[in-house]
Amino acid sequence: MDISVIIPLYNEQESLPSLYEWLVRVMQTNGYSYELVFVDDGSTDSSWDVITRLQHQAPETVHAIRFRRNYGKSAALHCGFQAANGDVVITMDADLQDSPDEIPELYRMITQEGYDLVSGWKKKRYDNTLTKNLPSKLFNATARRVTGIQLHDMNCGLKAYRKEVVKNIEVFSEMHRYIPYLAKNAGFTKIGEKVVQHRKREYGVSKFGLNRFVNGYLDLMTLWFLNRFGKQPMHFFGLVGSLMFMIGMIAVIVVAAMKLHALANGIHAMLLGTNPYFHIAILMMVLGCMLFLAGFLGELIIRNSQTRNDYLIREQL
Ligand code: UDP
Ligand code: MG
Repeated sequence: MDISVIIPLYNEQESLPSLYEWLVRVMQTNGYSYELVFVDDGSTDSSWDVITRLQHQAPETVHAIRFRRNYGKSAALHCGFQAANGDVVITMDADLQDSPDEIPELYRMITQEGYDLVSGWKKKRYDNTLTKNLPSKLFNATARRVTGIQLHDMNCGLKAYRKEVVKNIEVFSEMHRYIPYLAKNAGFTKIGEKVVQHRKREYGVSKFGLNRFVNGYLDLMTLWFLNRFGKQPMHFFGLVGSLMFMIGMIAVIVVAAMKLHALANGIHAMLLGTNPYFHIAILMMVLGCMLFLAGFLGELIIRNSQTRNDYLIREQL
């Protein structure tokens, strides 16, 4: 099979029929063998009825999954990825903001130019400027710095993947924003970008508010940390902890020496117990110990992790 299109959706009943027709038109004109995987993320409108109807119409090509409740876009993508059979996997939003007409070029970039992943770039965006476009620019600039992947629109819903990529990464929580980073960390480094058409949302409402940016930043930090120290937490906690402990210990020695010096020479000096530097120094030693211990605990947890020896083997002769 050439292409699997994965469509996560949550309350998009009005858009689905036109999206389906448009997709089928594109697939048939280009002669692809394909499947459409609709993942209904616990919709409360009649999206599922629409999908059921489509599935009856074309049982060969429409595959439908329905969650019992709303789990989020990442969960929907994850299940879609697991179900996908096509050599090239395309993800797109269900709200008609992404255009199916982009699929042939995305397909070509994966199959002929050898990309592992091609991300859409909504160069001209039809969303609210203040709440989406501007914060998104800032978000993408940060993401580029942290991940080292030069994409303008990391969180674009329209993306194409080589099948091997989606079968070897695990999207969960709200990590759908960073799939290119997940792919890069898994060793799929040929990541490209294609300017795509973007359209105004005609039906329904956007499902993500401004908190996407707060959550997005925190998730980015998590991924960065996991990628850097996830397999060896001691390298982070041990280093920071040891440094803090040493600085604290040196400070205690200095403070105590000054006190002894004062005592020996009969100079008036304050009690160690009332000296703020003494307390700060002791605090640093204690915190240093705790960080060090956190590193040890991290190492113990990793020893038990199921995935500690999971490596992706590219080739074997
Ligand atoms: N979506 C989903 N589960 C959710 C929220 C959103 O499956 O909990 C789907 C939604 O139906 C749409 C896509 O994810 O197909 C992108 O959502 P939306 O258009 O609201 O995001 P925006 O375009 O505003 O960034
Ligand atoms: Mg949208």
